[in-house]
Amino acid sequence: MPDPIIEHVYGRSVWDSRGRPTVEVEVWLKDGCIGRAIAPAGASKGAGEALDLRDGGRRFGGHGVETAVANVNGAIAARLEGIDARDQAGADALLVALDGRADRSHLGANAMIATSMAIAHAAAASSHQPLWQYLHTGGEVVLPVPEIQIFGGGAHADGQIDLQDFMVVPYGASSFREAMEWTSDVYRAAGARLSENGKLTGVADEGGYWPSFESNEHAIESLVRAIEVAGLSPEHQMGVSLDIASSNFFNGQGYMLKCEGQEFTTSAWYRRLAGWMATFPILMMEDPFEQNDLASHAAFTAEFGNRAQIVGDDLLVTQISNIAAAAKQRACTALLCKPNQVGTLTEAHAAHQAAKQLGWGTIVSARSGETEDVTITHLALGWGIAQIKVGSFTRSERMAKWNELLRFEDRLGGAATYAGRAPFTGVGR
Ligand code: PGA
Ligand code: ZN
Repeated sequence: MPDPIIEHVYGRSVWDSRGRPTVEVEVWLKDGCIGRAIAPAGASKGAGEALDLRDGGRRFGGHGVETAVANVNGAIAARLEGIDARDQAGADALLVALDGRADRSHLGANAMIATSMAIAHAAAASSHQPLWQYLHTGGEVVLPVPEIQIFGGGAHADGQIDLQDFMVVPYGASSFREAMEWTSDVYRAAGARLSENGKLTGVADEGGYWPSFESNEHAIESLVRAIEVAGLSPEHQMGVSLDIASSNFFNGQGYMLKCEGQEFTTSAWYRRLAGWMATFPILMMEDPFEQNDLASHAAFTAEFGNRAQIVGDDLLVTQISNIAAAAKQRACTALLCKPNQVGTLTEAHAAHQAAKQLGWGTIVSARSGETEDVTITHLALGWGIAQIKVGSFTRSERMAKWNELLRFEDRLGGAATYAGRAPFTGVGR
């Protein structure tokens, strides 16, 4: 067999789940194998994220990716052709050097991540292994415990309700298949209640219901009730996870809750969140305070970090320097790992490793703009990431990920274990 040398890198523009253009890359190897990947796109982005390069102007509302695609077919292709696809770190280092900017604004993180993932897919194809197996370095194979959105709000639902994700975590299930079955029951129960109460307005960007609640509490209560109606215990089987995504409603001074028509000072907001922690069975909470307020995150983690996993998304943007700063102040207990927030697989993996060394959890995550690309499910198994966040339980760009995980479980049988409660040891359950 000839070595898996990159012969050709080719980019094109395809469409994402919001009907916006995104970058797809194919990596062709001299041995005839091909790898393909598509960049996802965020809407509620952290300030420190790597830049998703868009054309601007009037075409496609400014969301065109022709410049990013041209970068793939020009500078990136020229630089990577002739490289061994098994050398992911080397290829990613070349991409980083070629970009030359901390924010990845020269090539665009969308061009970079699609290329980086396509290289991994090509190398896996060449080794005749599924990507997860190609990436796996030994030890137990773990199927991640998912967080699944039931109601969507915030930037994904036009600010109809302030919090962004109201999710369930089927940590008490005995298998990934059962986790999905429970989720289906809860999703249906939540929808039935909403339509009975005349509060169903559609679905948000990630496929969760887009309800018109009077307050954020009503949404949390309704979620807990849906879990109970489905015959599950929110305390012991199906936990509640909230992505507060609070930077989106922080106005520089306070937290402005549109849904409730009220602005909260930081200390009043802290008390409101503390009240929710006392009232509801919250197992995970993401970005409770705005992304620059490490001190409030630290105080909150000190008080509630043993009751719930405190997750940093906008707070960390999958970058080592932010992880180090947050660790110093003990500002959270888990990393939300989104490869396109940093631009290459090697850097996303390093962020996960840094979190692991700190004893934090890692949740590998999709974005609100997604496609049929299922790379993140392979990263979960391959890198040993025990948690995954993909969005809701409808729409094929979400179900494609859940279905891929079902396939893994089905094929692996007893050779893989569902993570279940494991990520939550030490959080009081
Ligand atoms: P995004 O949102 O993909 O729109 O950034 C997801 C999240 O905040 O977790
Ligand atoms: Zn988030």
